[in-house]
Amino acid sequence: MPELPEVEVVRRGLERWTAGRTIASAEVSHPRAVRRHAAGPADFAGRLAGRVALAPRRRGKYLWIPLQDGGEGSGGAPGEALLAHLGMSGQLLVGEPDREREKHLRVRIVFTDGGHDLRFVDQRTFGHLMVCELVPDAFGGTGDSGNDEEHKGGHGLVPEPIVHIAADPLEDAFDAEAFFRALRRRKTGIKRALLDQSLISGVGNIYADEALWRARLHWARPTETLTRAEAARALEGARAVMGAALEVGGTSFDSLYVNVNGESGYFERSLDAYGRRDEPCRRCGTPIRRDVFMNRSSYSCPTCQPRPRRARY
Ligand SMILES: [Zn+2]
Repeated sequence: MPELPEVEVVRRGLERWTAGRTIASAEVSHPRAVRRHAAGPADFAGRLAGRVALAPRRRGKYLWIPLQDGGEGSGGAPGEALLAHLGMSGQLLVGEPDREREKHLRVRIVFTDGGHDLRFVDQRTFGHLMVCELVPDAFGGTGDSGNDEEHKGGHGLVPEPIVHIAADPLEDAFDAEAFFRALRRRKTGIKRALLDQSLISGVGNIYADEALWRARLHWARPTETLTRAEAARALEGARAVMGAALEVGGTSFDSLYVNVNGESGYFERSLDAYGRRDEPCRRCGTPIRRDVFMNRSSYSCPTCQPRPRRARY
């Protein structure tokens, strides 16, 4: 399943290959892929035709392309965006069609310049695309605006369906002080807080375990007992592990395929806690323990991450 770093790799690829291009048409070959677009596939396609795709933005695992009106009177602020969530197996591809992938083509977006199409391919179709309104960002962030100065637009705006989702730790505008205050108020376990999209977005189960191992914090540590320095360590841990994954996943930026499959190889090589039950901690050698957490697992080092006297599960 694509995690935040893989989605960021896709965003950077799209910035390179689609920003500034005018959409000629969109073809929906599987209505399930646009099921969240309430007005239906024809309306979805109609809203894309003639619009200019600006530099894509990202928050957590959501990716969006602000849409500017094309033609006469163009150049205004984008009022809508193409929002994408890749789900379990979604891929956004730019380049020569590939017969194997084409079996799972769900949406094709064609550009007026006649260059490579943008194709949404999704074997399991848990991912989706929709065109939606852009609204002011309640979290005060900018989304991830990327490097394409020429085609930037939609600063301070987010797609309406994700307005409740907090900024993610890789966003420049992430407010660490507000995060700390929200943690203290929440009175929950630190891992539960890291997975809570209303506090911080884009941190999944694996990244939470890795961030807490780096921060030397037990996953059930009550958030109201965290010091500012400990909260900063958890945040820094999340940034570091995501940054490392991004470096590995970022090797294919020059490829014409904007491709995400979650198989960057990072997870097999570089995990310090997750999935390492009974293997020695890379810091102190103590065997890593596994606890059951929300019907899943939490991996931690009993020595580096001692269980708090009072725990919040
Ligand atoms: Zn250890």
